[in-house]
Amino acid sequence: MSAERFELPPLVDQHCHRVLSEVPLNVTEFERWLSESPHPPAAGTSYFDSQLGLAVRRWCAPALGLPAYATPADYLATRRALGPTEALRRLLHAADIGTLLVDTGLPAGDLRSGPGGEPVRGWDRRGRSSGRGGWTDDGAGYVDRRLDDGWAAEGRPGSRRPGNRGPFADPAPEPGTGPGRAGRHGDGSAGAAGTWLTPAELARAAGAGAFEVTRLESLAEDAADRAGRDTDAFLAGLARAIGRARARSVAFKSVVAYRHGLHLAPAPPSRAELWTAAEHWLLTRPAGGRLSNPVLARHLLWSAVETGLPLQLHTGFGDPDLRLHRADPALLTDFVRAVGPTGCPLVLLHCYPFHRQAAHLAAVHPHVQVDLGLTLSHVGSRAGAVLTETLELAPFGKVLFSTDAYGLPELYLVGARQFRHALTEALTQLAPPRAEWQRIAALLAADNARRVYRLT
Ligand SMILES: [Zn+2]
Repeated sequence: MSAERFELPPLVDQHCHRVLSEVPLNVTEFERWLSESPHPPAAGTSYFDSQLGLAVRRWCAPALGLPAYATPADYLATRRALGPTEALRRLLHAADIGTLLVDTGLPAGDLRSGPGGEPVRGWDRRGRSSGRGGWTDDGAGYVDRRLDDGWAAEGRPGSRRPGNRGPFADPAPEPGTGPGRAGRHGDGSAGAAGTWLTPAELARAAGAGAFEVTRLESLAEDAADRAGRDTDAFLAGLARAIGRARARSVAFKSVVAYRHGLHLAPAPPSRAELWTAAEHWLLTRPAGGRLSNPVLARHLLWSAVETGLPLQLHTGFGDPDLRLHRADPALLTDFVRAVGPTGCPLVLLHCYPFHRQAAHLAAVHPHVQVDLGLTLSHVGSRAGAVLTETLELAPFGKVLFSTDAYGLPELYLVGARQFRHALTEALTQLAPPRAEWQRIAALLAADNARRVYRLT
């Protein structure tokens, strides 16, 4: 392993989640957050005995003043002595992340800033334009838009409210942003019990700016909760919710890989298909039921595409809600082709073990990007190999950094350190001219995300 030969700019973490305000400090409860599984470890085993468990001990123990690889018991004892606020501060500052793009779909709850309420630092989005290429909100548009005469007024291009600075400085949340769920992606894992930092509190603790990424399925489920069995009200409410989310977010995200799988028909559904599917879902949906209908999923995806904001898609491994063979990003090939003319950026999240398939899509489709968040943390010492394999085909301008941290602030530090470590190894393997290491590293760390999400 060679020493780093580059200085990274503050990282742009383009996919992450909120963390617990009070992390459990006994080994049994703490280690539950070191797995994508909702189940306790098998009898006689520990989730600390994994690549991620080793990575936490390697990178986080020194941030608390302990030697690397301190035992879990020593680590948690020191964390208890420091207290939650100081431990949070040390872990997040050590991660050196400058910007957070927070998936606010989970856990549900109040997203507003705490009682202090002062704005978090962030980047002004007022200069950002909306829509890409010839695809605009004033064009022929997609079928659902007409139900409410287009996006809600506050969602139209150029109509963003003055003073909406994009980061979580705006304390007004979407009411009831999705139902409460456990788990990070497919809603079935580790458990969302406990209290959670708001994105603004998270950003303040990290000394970072923060932007919102809105989860599409949560918008639809919330709209269904409000509409009852009224199909027209549901579709109109959903269109308004997407318009509002568009005005306050830098991207949309979908977990259709969990709910149905990525083997979707590529085209948007017709109005008749959509109405029939929506009516059936509302009539058969149990209270708080999740959206997994593939027609409605396509409607969500194409509604997001029409907004012109980047669309993040979960692909690859995750919790047991997932059927892995349906999460191969190659299944999205026809959808990727169909979206191409709109210019809407697609960001394939996680990707492992299909990272080479994702790299191919990024290599041949200008609007496709690849992310290895979650992956680099979970594969531990193999992170450099996985990033190298991704960069075999993916252009350097198409790979984005994220931590996918969730629950534990430790996962922010692990994600950031694993990325830096993997990047050094990948550049060593791929051997671009030494003089260009700095520039290429900066692309992956921050510059690519700034370009894709228009973070100026
Ligand atoms: Zn995630």
